[in-house]
Amino acid sequence: MPTKAKEKSSQLTRGFEPYQETKGEEYMSDAMRAHFTAILNKWKMELMQEVDRTVHHMQDEAANFPDPADRASQEEEFSLELRARDRERKLIKKIDETLQLIEDNDYGWCESCGVEIGIRRLEARPTATLCIDCKTLAEIKEKQIGS
Ligand SMILES: [Zn+2]
Repeated sequence: MPTKAKEKSSQLTRGFEPYQETKGEEYMSDAMRAHFTAILNKWKMELMQEVDRTVHHMQDEAANFPDPADRASQEEEFSLELRARDRERKLIKKIDETLQLIEDNDYGWCESCGVEIGIRRLEARPTATLCIDCKTLAEIKEKQIGS
């Protein structure tokens, strides 16, 4: 099978190989940073495609419904999509900031207490800036203020 033509178009997956640390490898080595740069870039690309798709979808569908009831439900759908798009934009911004952190070699350490956030946690949440303990604490505090 010589051609690559049948490759399936990518879905919104963040499939990647978990990072295999080599023995005695230093945390956030060049290879590790390259690993996370690749994950973040891939994720960002998928989000940008998603934003694109939403815009086109809305352009295609706009003003296709003469019935006011249909229009109302369409508007509701659009506002949901717009909110989703807003979330995606914010996420893209966050990804950009994270890529900058990698560039500056500040990536992977908790911004609150300074410990290593850890490869596995970062693979699950590549934009995490807090270790799991500080994150949990922040969430508890947030809930207390909120109530
Ligand atoms: Zn911490």
